[in-house]
Amino acid sequence: MLRSGLTWNTLVGMTNTPLLTRDLKAAVSGGRLEVVYQPIFRLHDWSDITSRPAAVEALSRWNHSVMGSVSPVRFIPLAERAEFLEELDRLVLAAALAQLREWHRAGHVIGLSVNASPTHFASEYVDAVLERAENLGTPGALTVEIIEAPSPQLIPDMNGALTRLREAGVVISVDDFGGGDTTLEMLEMLPIDEVKIDRTLTQRDDAEADDAVRAVVESGRAHGWRTVAEGIETIADLERSRDRGCDRGQGFLLGRPTTPDGIERMLRRAG
Ligand code: C2E
Ligand code: MG
Ligand code: MG
Repeated sequence: MLRSGLTWNTLVGMTNTPLLTRDLKAAVSGGRLEVVYQPIFRLHDWSDITSRPAAVEALSRWNHSVMGSVSPVRFIPLAERAEFLEELDRLVLAAALAQLREWHRAGHVIGLSVNASPTHFASEYVDAVLERAENLGTPGALTVEIIEAPSPQLIPDMNGALTRLREAGVVISVDDFGGGDTTLEMLEMLPIDEVKIDRTLTQRDDAEADDAVRAVVESGRAHGWRTVAEGIETIADLERSRDRGCDRGQGFLLGRPTTPDGIERMLRRAG
């Protein structure tokens, strides 16, 4: 920690964005990003560490040679701004689907979520997902999470792409609802199957958060969306999310992001 209270990591990160972007680009092209997996559980059947995850979310990890681990909260926007997030996400998709096929071959029934920016849906990313989902044999095992609210002018084109993916059986999810600019009205305009509720709502125990989550759960029942409570860190968060009617849950209490081996152990333990 530096005297100012800033860590070295933040300081270098803040002052050297072009350098950091260059290093990130090299790490992506060189296949040096890692993928970790966080389990997602059906809330009604989660009991303890022997519970079986319904799915996992693939999350990128970058270990910089000097700065050490850099958070995706920092590097995903860099890749997006420098226009290589799609390349990054295609690599994550390929690695995570290869991993999923291994789990399926070993007899585990499990789904996979990958993250994608709204801009990907106007590009060849969609064809890459379609091709890989078809090869998977069980396209419904793949969920694509849209990480931020699309700008209104993107919505018509995006709807076409999302419809193609859904017709192929791929599950479409909207990430971090309640933590960004996405509104319930916007969700209703999109052809989607799942809504992930941001941890700020999951962790808040007040009437406003309660109303917001119950409204999206109710809308979900009407439209056939699955709801996933993110950021479950405590038993209180878990019980609150169950009471509010969320279908699935994800968070540090249920399982942290881990290596493929960590997930494998979890699946074997669940029997
Ligand atoms: P996300 O897609 O909403 O992923 C969940 C994030 O919340 C992950 O952060 C995860 O580690 C964290 N998390 C999970 N449970 C808890 C909890 O109980 N408490 C708290 N405080 N946090 C929890 P991570 O891995 O740092 O990723 C941050 C964001 O970066 C992701 O949020 C996603 O928007 C983006 N991201 C990460 N990997 C990728 C990727 O490969 N592609 C794209 N496009 N975006 C990615
Ligand atoms: Mg996500
Ligand atoms: Mg999220």
